Amino acid sequence: MNEAAARVAALRALLARYDQRYYVLDDPEVPDSEYDRLMRELRALETAHPALLTADSPTQRVGGAASASFAAVAHGLPMLSLENAFANADVVEFDRRVRERLGADAALEYCAEPKLDGLAVSVRYERGRYVQAATRGDGATGEDVTANVRTLRAIPLRLQGPAPERLEVRGEVYMPFAGFERLNAAAAAAGDKLFVNPRNAAAGALRQLDPAVTARRPLAVYFYGAGAWQGTAEPATQKQLLEQFAAWGLRTNPETAVVNGVDGCLSYYRALAARRDTLAYQIDGVVYKVNSRAHQEALGQVSRAPRWAIAHKFPADEALTTLREVEFQVGRTGVLTPVARLVPVMVGGASVSNATLHNMDEIERKDLCIGDTVIIRRAGDVIPEVVRSLPERRPTNARRIELPAACPVCGSPVTRTAGEAAARCSGGFVCAAQRKEALRHFASRRALDIEGLGEKLIDQLVDREMIATPADLYALSLEQLAGLERMGEKSAANVLEALERSKRTSLPRFLHALGIRDVGEATAASLAAHFGTLDALRSASTEQILEVPEVGPVIAAHVHDFLAVPANRAVIDRLIVAGFSWPEGVPAARAAGPLAGLTIVLTGTLGSMTREQAGEALRALGAKLGGSVSKKTHFVVAGAEAGSKLKRARELGVTVVDETGLAALLRGERPPAS
Ligand code: NAD
Repeated sequence: MNEAAARVAALRALLARYDQRYYVLDDPEVPDSEYDRLMRELRALETAHPALLTADSPTQRVGGAASASFAAVAHGLPMLSLENAFANADVVEFDRRVRERLGADAALEYCAEPKLDGLAVSVRYERGRYVQAATRGDGATGEDVTANVRTLRAIPLRLQGPAPERLEVRGEVYMPFAGFERLNAAAAAAGDKLFVNPRNAAAGALRQLDPAVTARRPLAVYFYGAGAWQGTAEPATQKQLLEQFAAWGLRTNPETAVVNGVDGCLSYYRALAARRDTLAYQIDGVVYKVNSRAHQEALGQVSRAPRWAIAHKFPADEALTTLREVEFQVGRTGVLTPVARLVPVMVGGASVSNATLHNMDEIERKDLCIGDTVIIRRAGDVIPEVVRSLPERRPTNARRIELPAACPVCGSPVTRTAGEAAARCSGGFVCAAQRKEALRHFASRRALDIEGLGEKLIDQLVDREMIATPADLYALSLEQLAGLERMGEKSAANVLEALERSKRTSLPRFLHALGIRDVGEATAASLAAHFGTLDALRSASTEQILEVPEVGPVIAAHVHDFLAVPANRAVIDRLIVAGFSWPEGVPAARAAGPLAGLTIVLTGTLGSMTREQAGEALRALGAKLGGSVSKKTHFVVAGAEAGSKLKRARELGVTVVDETGLAALLRGERPPAS
């Protein structure tokens, strides 16, 4: 009993805190599902220990207290909350209770309505004129929001046709999704705080001290009920009530329908749940109301809710759980994706135990630690996501999430380029996760162009563990290949022949085929031209690779790191042993030539030789040939009809020489400007 009393007190304190954040600050701390769970726990304890039940328990009260910032408005009739049904069985039980009280055996008519997720208001009309609007507050007394509600275009200031002396109409002020997104986009652009959901945005917009602010917010309203009513006869059914509202010019929800019995309720629920994503506004369930208002009166109410209505909630699309661990998955292109391992939790009607976290930036943005309590969202068919953590619940032993230094699949170093969100495994074909993609690239037309070695064949070879790296391809036998699905002797022989042919290639193609990150055909060609031989490239430092025209620090690091991984070196060695060969380029030794360190640009028509011949000769002497003129260019050799490059050289003050100068260069001398 003591234990129960302590838990009841703890739950009440917690719920009071969440009420304050939700009703007063319009900024909930936890998802509704968590609030509802605690409320159910409290209710169960109070049922088991009736002595603990007090009149001020949150199970007995409606909403939160009205804020003192607004004048108080006493409602003519109390504004109630609704009982909740979370499962079909709860609805069946509700219908059974209702019929028992009414002594009705046959199925009852219900008015089924979408349960809008907004904020309840009561609007008072006197002789058809708008006089006052109030929030629900604690149910008996609300906040005076007359000036704010008046700014809503959907609110008629005069009812059409004959109206009662005095009338309170109840409805829900809400913010349609489109307006909510616009509002949050504008808030994001201005660096302001974002609203958690349309309900809180609507509540925040309505409870503004300056009605001009409310007027700028995209609010709408649907009316669904009546409070005090004096002067004319009231409609006999809920449906007729809504029709009367519409006749007066009050907006009512077009999805409302009269259904028969509990089966009618449940099929309405299923149909609306299926269409929920297509609605322009947020709903969190369906409300069933006994259609006959005479029956409603006979049923009456309990402390906080009518006995004649129930809210059948949709499965919560947000819930709380614990982040147990973060594992990193390696995709086929080597990208490491952090995946959250969660304590399983029901969200959006399904159990969720994993959620992708995309990349390290996202982990930072959402402020996640291992051990944290996190909000999980799964709306409709959308993949579950971690919304954020609750830092106020962070345990003392929570751990920061670190990007692993080594690939969890192959152990190769993980790299993360500055300015890029993705981290990658540098293992390439060494990494089992990337093997197929690396092999597909190796065999592709623009790389080694191995005819017949397509995706399906690669899949089979890798899945049967016949190959892991490109080097293994060259050890395959005719029998091995011919034994595979959809492969005869003939096609197997063709593949072997294509493999044999692929060995006679060029250095640029070979480098491109290795699949080094960011090394495409053009970069491979630049690397080959600069270093001349594979050996020279393999022994180059990052700084030396950086000297290659058009190679920046990122690519230089990728190339260097790739060639430094022992497993990659082993694959290259095996390919060479298997017989790969290409015409050697100008040896890297040229770096010691008389023109070493000079960058020369050729332009215009030369008289004595072609530009290609001149270029080759200059390169042989150690010069670097540039494609465009920059401040780093040492000489521009200008032939006849030189155009833009000559102009650029003059602008930058680069030394320009003619063919006499070229002749001097070819003798290994540095000519003066012409
Ligand atoms: P409720 O929102 O579950 O249901 C009652 C309300 O439904 C009415 O007041 C009315 O505003 C609205 N409604 C919408 N469509 C309606 C229709 N067609 N007919 C009649 N009413 C309709 O109950 P509540 O008392 O307003 O709030 C309790 C709920 O609020 C909790 O279940 C919880 O999910 C949420 N809450 C969350 C937190 C939090 O911290 N996340 C805190 C407090 C309350």
